Amino acid sequence: MSVSHICLSSGSVLMKDPQRVQEILQSMSKAGINTLQVISDFDMTLTRFSYNGKRCPTCHNILDNSKAISDECRQELDHLLKTYYPIEIDTSKPVSEKLPLMVEWWTKAHDLLVEQRIKKDELAEAVRESDAMLREGYELFFDRLHEHGIPLLIFSAGIGDILEEVIRQANVFHSNVKVISNYMDFDESGRLKAFKGELIHIYNKREGALLNTGHFEELRSRPNVLLMGDSLGDLNMADGVQDMKYILKIGYLNDKVEERKQSYLDSYDIVLVNDESLEVPNAVLHYLT
Ligand code: C5P
Ligand code: MG
Repeated sequence: MSVSHICLSSGSVLMKDPQRVQEILQSMSKAGINTLQVISDFDMTLTRFSYNGKRCPTCHNILDNSKAISDECRQELDHLLKTYYPIEIDTSKPVSEKLPLMVEWWTKAHDLLVEQRIKKDELAEAVRESDAMLREGYELFFDRLHEHGIPLLIFSAGIGDILEEVIRQANVFHSNVKVISNYMDFDESGRLKAFKGELIHIYNKREGALLNTGHFEELRSRPNVLLMGDSLGDLNMADGVQDMKYILKIGYLNDKVEERKQSYLDSYDIVLVNDESLEVPNAVLHYLT
């Protein structure tokens, strides 16, 4: 395959070094699909950023917009979103400055959700009634990976229970899918009482990966990685991969395109702009399988 085949997408496909992309693809192809694993972020990577000009929700936003929480809580969560999201995508601040603020955002939001004592059985309805959408071509993406027995790790700073429900309702929660995310902890009456384990936010995916050594140990025979993300923090999702050989990094640049283009080009091998589909990852997988 030549790199031009992955440029057929409807959005724009940018590469700082197309020759290198070509070489990685050829090396991965030669190594065979039995050596491949896929690690992907969820929100705004596997799900759409917008549809018909309207923003699509993240896992958190699915709850923010649902009947499972009170109007007062919704306003508070909306206020948090308006305060912290601009910081998340601000290129003028270093990660060291943004990190404590991101922890603050996630912690405040999770505390508010716990106060609402959300019922476990309200989650499916919240997802069903939401505007969340997986990117175009998702069936092909998930089904092909499943068909070829390629492990897909979804590594998300969103909410695991919601994420699972989104892919379950889309009929693509196949047996090759493993999720690392923030999971809810429910009491005996099925009400949210806390979040389990260490918090995962957008800047500690490295730590999250290193806490899951068991998963990566199992995949030791698959040293080649296709990584997909939409945030620079997602680049650390493969830090737990053992004896990694080749990695191809695909980044969706959804927002603040001009300001962030250079940093994305410097860190991701392929950068996708204005692309709401999985066409490019699908083209890569088509070539590799
Ligand atoms: O799955 P992923 O790792 O992308 O999930 C993180 C996303 O969730 C962030 O990009 C952030 O904008 C969003 N978020 C949110 N509401 C929160 C916390 C995070 O929408 N309270
Ligand atoms: Mg994301």
